[in-house]
Amino acid sequence: MLRYNVIAGGVCLLLVSSVLTLRGEVGPEVKVRLLEDIKFLASDELEGRGVGTNGLNVASQFIKAEFAKSGLAVDRVEGNAFQKFDLVTGSKLGEANALQLIGPEGKTLDLKIGEQVEVCSFAGSGSFQGEIVFCGYGIESKDDLYDDFEGINVEGKVVIVMRRNPRQNDPKNPLGAAHGVSRHADLRTKMNNIVAHKAAAVLFVNDPYAGKKGAETRQEGLSKANEKVAEAAEEYLSIESNETNQEKLKGARLKLTEASNQAKSLREAAKNANDDALMKFGYAGNGDNKSLPPAFHISIKTCNELLAALKTDLASLEAAIDSDLKPKSVVIPGWIAKGAATIEKVRADVANVIGVIDGEGPLANETVIIGAHYDHVGRGGQNSLAPGSSEIHNGADDNASGTVTLLELARRFGKQAQTKKPPRRLVFIAFTGEELGLLGSARYCKEPVFPLDSTIAMMNMDMVGRLKEEKLIVYGTGTSPRWEPELKQFNGENGF
Ligand SMILES: [Zn+2]
Repeated sequence: MLRYNVIAGGVCLLLVSSVLTLRGEVGPEVKVRLLEDIKFLASDELEGRGVGTNGLNVASQFIKAEFAKSGLAVDRVEGNAFQKFDLVTGSKLGEANALQLIGPEGKTLDLKIGEQVEVCSFAGSGSFQGEIVFCGYGIESKDDLYDDFEGINVEGKVVIVMRRNPRQNDPKNPLGAAHGVSRHADLRTKMNNIVAHKAAAVLFVNDPYAGKKGAETRQEGLSKANEKVAEAAEEYLSIESNETNQEKLKGARLKLTEASNQAKSLREAAKNANDDALMKFGYAGNGDNKSLPPAFHISIKTCNELLAALKTDLASLEAAIDSDLKPKSVVIPGWIAKGAATIEKVRADVANVIGVIDGEGPLANETVIIGAHYDHVGRGGQNSLAPGSSEIHNGADDNASGTVTLLELARRFGKQAQTKKPPRRLVFIAFTGEELGLLGSARYCKEPVFPLDSTIAMMNMDMVGRLKEEKLIVYGTGTSPRWEPELKQFNGENGF
């Protein structure tokens, strides 16, 4: 769904410009094969075309075969159609992962990874041992006169850092954000500050405010739902039970049932709610980042066991910082932390699929690229519109629609080239890794098969499956002064 398109064409299969000319009636057989191809690419068998799935490989073979059938050269990338590379798709825990907190009189907390503590996948690997320092929010802001690292040396030590930022109930405070997440609350900003101060490891802990706020919001939702149940019950009871009121009663009963079910599900959710949920391994990015120290996420309960040495707890420290907006960083006496994190990157082999129609004449060395990404989000994850789900995301619109349009254009230009070659080289590219951050197109730009300085235009098709009110949306028309007038002409001629 990442959409940074240069230009998106439509299923109409009419691309008109001075760089590309192809016109033709769309016969019924075209509709049939477009539909067949889209059904195949978006089938469960292709596993949502996620990077790392076999489904994506099957799709790449299919595209190559269709390019070849259309008469495109499929041997221009070192004898093949595949521009291969590998991508980081995730992280996994390696062998050694442990966190031990050793306190006064030998008191030891041996925390169970995945239950009492989580390894932060966005940080680094390595082993460590050191004194423990409570370091507020890990914020260092000279502008805002707030510095959790001021006056305390954390070099070689293990820092406890709260998530988010002080005074969250006042978004206008200098460390907050009017909208969204404060830059100071960003985990990467915190990690950078921690690296700058050379801490050996980090123990993140949730700020108590966030948990309290979550519980309040939940309670408000439940109160509202209960009110609705009461209202619906009153309404139901106010209807006299007689022959003529049967429909009315039925409606009111349905409303009451719905309200009651809603309240019940909120009650269940409240029962299972965890106001101190730890960031699961995999949250906020994939790491084994060599420049970062290991990081863990401990519970507020664990943190408070340590803070007992200072005769305080996390909520009190949070409240103290909130009250005067001054850091409260302090060494926790008598405690040390030791442990190790081992994060391994998970990689997947992927490929852009490239087919070529050679040009003929004085401009034959110039290239026009027609592209569409063929990957999708597999079983969801961060790029899903429903991030919690693990169902196959079939991606018919995004972007089987663009991929089949690419194949259809390859067929048509391929056929045309049998009688007359185009004036310029046409390079058809089905890109991979788009959903993970335009990685396939980035790879092509890094290692272009044909020189970029003689590549005069690129047309990208992403989600061409929606023609609302006979409108075709074309992005990126500002990338060249020629697109707009040509599109206007094209629209006029074709009634768009
Ligand atoms: Zn897309």
